[in-house]
Amino acid sequence: MTKSYFHDHLAARDPLIFKALEDEKKRQQGQIELIASENSVSLASLDALGSVITNKTVEGYPGKRFHGGADFADIVEQAAIDRAKELFDCDFANVQPHSGTQANQAVFFALLTPGDVVLSLDLASGGHLSHGAKPNQSGRWFTIVSYGVDRETGRIDYENVEKLALEHKPKLLIAGGSSYPREIDFVRMREIADKVGATYLVDMAHFAGLVAAGVHPSPIPYADIVTCTTTKTLRGARGGLILTNREDLFKKLQPAVFPGVQGSAHLATIAGKAVCLGEALTDEFKAYGANVKANAQLLAEVLHKRGVRIVSGGTDTHVVLVDVSSKDLTGQQSQDALTTINVTSNKNPIPFDSAKPSEWKGLRLGSSAGTTRGFGTAEFEIIGNLIADIFEAQVADEATRADVIARSQATVAKLCAAFPIYA
Ligand SMILES: *Cc1c(COP(=O)(O)O)cnc(C)c1O
Repeated sequence: MTKSYFHDHLAARDPLIFKALEDEKKRQQGQIELIASENSVSLASLDALGSVITNKTVEGYPGKRFHGGADFADIVEQAAIDRAKELFDCDFANVQPHSGTQANQAVFFALLTPGDVVLSLDLASGGHLSHGAKPNQSGRWFTIVSYGVDRETGRIDYENVEKLALEHKPKLLIAGGSSYPREIDFVRMREIADKVGATYLVDMAHFAGLVAAGVHPSPIPYADIVTCTTTKTLRGARGGLILTNREDLFKKLQPAVFPGVQGSAHLATIAGKAVCLGEALTDEFKAYGANVKANAQLLAEVLHKRGVRIVSGGTDTHVVLVDVSSKDLTGQQSQDALTTINVTSNKNPIPFDSAKPSEWKGLRLGSSAGTTRGFGTAEFEIIGNLIADIFEAQVADEATRADVIARSQATVAKLCAAFPIYA
């Protein structure tokens, strides 16, 4: 082994990858991140993610491994488990899912056989691919029945959920989604699941951090199983969690994760998860969660005042789902317009939208990454106006548009400089 193998940093050893990573850091530093599923992890999380524990192979769970040398791996994974249980006040936690999708896949694997009926939120209403979308394994192998939202209110139509449940007798009822901006009535969904004997899964991938911070109701007391990512509002390593209070289900979920749908644990990621779960137990994180919500609400308000339609009229979370057809734009056009001023977002379907991404009318915005950066309501008011300005500039003459772009870029640069990340 050459000396450089253990001594050279990336810059010396692989300049191409080093430069791409440095450029990515600069991109993150110099733009305003409004993608609702993104966040910025702490430097401590980055340390854990880049640690030598990535070398260690372990299969199984702490205290019951198939390989030797797992003492420190056990400390790391047990800490992640203990912290997840404390944070969400639940009895059992599996911290190994490589992602939120794998967490859900493990739940399906534990409880269902191919062909079984699953009732979940449809994609246009904010559902997630892993809840039964056609191109996903869940949609290929299971019989998916979808519920949606009310056309007027944009909220889940619980009457319809109950009707569909009684009609189709699902084995699994899923609540939760990726672009549903409102609180879900966990109690009502529990009642519906009980009426038909379905297992009730809440996927809180998006709002887990808000639950952790105590600014959003927790599904833990009502659901049979709760899954989430550690990535989004929890602002940690990229991965998933499975939580439950039911020992009987946990006994099925453990072997469903390993060896059911996964192999060896990703220990560096689990170390990263342990760090973010520890951070989420602090008062600092509670304040963060409250700010995320306040900032999203203000953003929705500013946009509404500027004539942009907000799906469901507002938000209870970090997600603001915007109907950009109210400004004569498509989702793609609005996303591109924001990109020109260094604000990052994603096009999204809105309820009852076209199935074609090129025709989507929605833009999904989120306050979690900006809030991590330190933006407060004053900054989100500026951001809301920047967004409305650039939308309106799309239909203005060229000189006006160029002027708005130049002024907006300068404002974004100033905001980013005032709230630096990874400096
Ligand atoms: C983001 C998300 C997931 C999982 O995402 P991964 O990219 O697989 O980690 C699962 N469910 C919902 C509702 C989500 O929003």
